[in-house]
Formats: sequence, C-alpha cells, structure tokens
Amino acid sequence: MLPRFAPVLGCLLLGAVAVAAPKLCYGEAPEEDGADLILSHGVFYPVQPPGKVEGSLAVRGGRIVYLGTDTGAERLRTPKTRVIDLRGRAVTPGLIDAHSHLAGLGQSLEQVDLTGAASYGEVIRRVREAARSLPPGAWVRGRGWDQNRWPEKRFPTHQELTRAVPDHPVWLTRVDGHAALVNAAAMKALGIDAAIKDPSGGRFLRDEAGRPTGVLIDNAKGWAEGRLPAPSAEDRRRTLRKAALHCVERGLTTVTDMGIGDGDYRAYKALKGAHELPLRAALFLTDDKALLDAWFARGPEIDPDARVTVRGVKMYIDGALGSRGAALIEPYSDDPGNLGLLVSTGDHLEEVARRARARGFQVGIHAIGDRGGLVALDAMERALGGPDPGARFRLEHSQVLRLQDIQRMARLGIIASMQPTHATSDMPWAGDRVGPRRLQGAYAWRKVLDAHGRLALGSDFPVESADPRLGLYAAVTRQDLQGNPPGGWMPGERLTREEALRGFTLDAAWSLFLEKEIGSLEVGKRADLVVFAEDPMTVPEREIPRAAIDYTVVDGQVVFARGTSERGSGR
Ligand SMILES: [Zn+2]
Repeated sequence: MLPRFAPVLGCLLLGAVAVAAPKLCYGEAPEEDGADLILSHGVFYPVQPPGKVEGSLAVRGGRIVYLGTDTGAERLRTPKTRVIDLRGRAVTPGLIDAHSHLAGLGQSLEQVDLTGAASYGEVIRRVREAARSLPPGAWVRGRGWDQNRWPEKRFPTHQELTRAVPDHPVWLTRVDGHAALVNAAAMKALGIDAAIKDPSGGRFLRDEAGRPTGVLIDNAKGWAEGRLPAPSAEDRRRTLRKAALHCVERGLTTVTDMGIGDGDYRAYKALKGAHELPLRAALFLTDDKALLDAWFARGPEIDPDARVTVRGVKMYIDGALGSRGAALIEPYSDDPGNLGLLVSTGDHLEEVARRARARGFQVGIHAIGDRGGLVALDAMERALGGPDPGARFRLEHSQVLRLQDIQRMARLGIIASMQPTHATSDMPWAGDRVGPRRLQGAYAWRKVLDAHGRLALGSDFPVESADPRLGLYAAVTRQDLQGNPPGGWMPGERLTREEALRGFTLDAAWSLFLEKEIGSLEVGKRADLVVFAEDPMTVPEREIPRAAIDYTVVDGQVVFARGTSERGSGR
C-alpha cells in the first residue's frame, strides 16, 4: 500500500504518487533537492498511516522527504547521496521510551547488578566481589535485588551483609526503586540507629528490639538517599553518555528522564553542546520546591532541535506493589490491615499541576495502587477543570485502577503511561497482592484503549531492561521469555503488534508533545528510525526479543550500526 502524504514545509512536496518529479524550491540549485540518505528495497512500517510500504525512504537535512516506490526515490539520488540497500529488511520509526530514567541507567551501568539473584547469599556474593576492586571506605552501590525471588520471600536483615562486607558502606536498591538495603557501615555513615524516627510516608524496618534491620522503605529511603555522596559533574556526563549509547544500540531514539534536578540537566546540556548525545531526551523535573519555582518562573525549554526538552514535572503519590508501598483503597489481599502508603497529598499534586499547566508544563504522577490512582486522578481533574487532552497530563504506571477510573482517565484526556514489562515481571505475585477482583483493573492496557484512552509505553529502565523489544514482546504476549504462562497472563489485555508499536512510537511522542517531530515515518518529520535484521512485525512472537537491530538513525544520522564501530556524534 502507498502512504498518503500531507504537504509539509512548503517546498517539500515530494513523494506523493501523483507528483511525477520532485518540485524545486525557488532559488535552490537542483542538487540541493537531492537526498542525503536513501534506504532502498525495504519494508517500512510508518505507523501513521497504519500498514506498510515496500520501497524506499529518503532523508534530507535530517528530515524524511520521501517514502514510496524505489523508482520514485531514485530521482532524489545524487553522487553525494548515501544509499543503504536494505534487501527487504524492516524499518520502524525510532522507538521511544515514554517513562525511563536515563541518568539512573547510567549510574546503574556502573553499579553491581543484582537483578535475577535467586537468594540473599547470591546478592552478598556479587557485592563482596565488587567490593574487592574498591579502596576501603568507598561506597559499594548495587541495584535490582528482589526478595520475591528468594526461597524465604522475606525482606533481608543487614547482619549477613555486614559480616561479609564490613569495610565498605553498602547501598543496595530494591528492583522497584522503593526500598534500599544497607549494611552497618552505611547506617553509621548515614546516621541510622535505634533512635531514628520514621519519616511520614516511609519506614525503617526494625527487629523486635526496635533496632533498624537495614531495609529502608519509600520516604525513609528517600531521606537516606539525600545524604549519599553526590556524583561529580564529570561522573554524570560519563554515565549519561554510556546510558545513551546503551539505548541507541537497542533501537531507542528518544528516551525520558522522569525526575531530574539541575545537576542532571546540566549534564544533558553539556553532552548536547559537545555533540555527544546520540538521542533525544525529554526531561521531567523532580518535585522539589526551589527547582520548580525557578523553572516555573522561566518556562519550559523547547529545543528547536528537539534534542533536550524540559517540559514536564514528575510527582509521586504512592510507592510500589512489590514492597507493599502502593496505596490501596482496601487492604492488601496478602497483608490484611496494610493499605500501603501515600507519599504526598492530593492538595499538593493539584497545586503543582495548576501551576505547571499555567506555565506550559505537563505533569506525570506516579500512581501504582488504586488509591494512588484515585487521589492522583482527583487532583488532576481539579487542576484541569474538565477534559483537556492538550495538557498532556500523564498517570505514570497506572498499574492498579478501579474500572471507573480507567474510564475517567480516558474521558479527561489523561495519558496512561504504562510499562509492559512491569506486568510480566509482576505477574507471579501481583494477584496475591490485590486479589482477583482488583486484578481486573491491573496492567489493563486493553481496557485503556477500549475506553479510547491514550497509551504511552515505556520500560521504567533501569527498573526493567531498556530494551524496547522486550516491551513489544511483553505487550503482545503477556508472557515471560520462556513463553509462560501459555496463552499469556490475563490474555484479554494483550495488544496487537501494531498497537504496541504505536505505543512505543507515535503515542509515546504525543505524551511528550513531540508528535509533530517524531513518532512516525511521515514526510516532514525528523528521520528517526530503526532497521531490523528480522521483521519484528512478522517473526513468530517468541523471536521478537531477538530481532537484531542493524541500524539506529537519529535526525538522518546513523548513530548505531551493528557489527561496526559506526556511531554518530549526536550531531
Ligand atoms: Zn520511573
């Protein structure tokens, strides 16, 4: 099928079937109308319009100027044009992660990886190993432990860790980021002892004698985190660059950073200025009064290159389901009497949302439990005063919602920012936490679409892998990588591949105010795209995670090419 083109940018009336030859602009030499890059003999999935186009795509000045037949593209070829013969390979728009933490990924790439550890002993072994390469007294950081994977399924206590690693302060973040485990040296450095009081919205877990066990939940973890030694500007730039390269190798061309401060903002600007940022980043400010006062006075930062955008505010209303910090309307099904924790108030969310909207910012509110979702939606509804899709307010995770709140979210035009791999990570125990009735509104992507809501997909990396192929796979199968459970978990919520791709491209772009620039292969848009060795839209489902990426292109520049050292400068 052939795409329908909208005339854009005045002189770029190229590519439409009816146009026999490219039209030239006044005052331009003919060769200036040629293409910088042509991808020929490919299968293109433009997303908008839906379907596929077999043929060529041409790029000039970083933007798509043609998508159509191979012969049509030949007219744009000049001696200077770079041509990549795709030999039938598949091309999608560049993939977008609508909810991620790029700076956090950078730090985690330098941390001890505890994901998948099947016992507390395994966690300790990995930490002890990492500590050997560090001078005594240096902090050892790690992340990704999950006691639900261990035989005893209980939170650990610090003693075993303290005995194994006595000479380094150790800080280990739980897989969901809502709890940390520390050893005795870290407690000493942070000032955590039996006399410490629990902050509101947080807990220091304690033994029968009231002594802290080393596990810090939600705001207790947040309090301690604020006392950790801060990374230097150089640390931030180095780790951010590492993370960005990690992402483009996996087909991501735009990511988000949900909750940053000035230090990270400066690192992004420095990288962009040095032409070392190979992808786009949409930054959401963390909910800090001084930071928001300054940004609200100044207004959003809308980059003409669409590389580093600051236009959002990230807030939290509750914790996570794994550590039972998510706020529920009725008690946890596996912990009677526990309703989870609200870490903020509806009044605060509403006030920030009102100010943000008045100053041209959007808000994204983390809400995992149904009480979290209820309070966050109430606050956003009051701030919006009624349906307003243009405000692009977002409910982050939207993980467990009452069915009527899914309808309300769609009616108000609030975007459901959801992460398919959270569902497949949580499916072994989510039902225990919330029970069968509430599970109907949990990880319910299909119900969001059926309600005519907007779905922006992401990964929440580094909580999950940054690899968007895993997200596409989880979205269409609701299975783990071994294909379990057969048929998928709550299979009625599965997405089609087209819906999943749209969630990771055009609708993710919409959720970031970037849909006019990116998210589809349309003439006039920026040339962000991914060339796959195997077609992720047609291979058997189980092969989607292994569909190799041959090229990642941002603004018409190859920023990753498989099997070569070709890497873009980030312009
Ligand atoms: Zn997140």
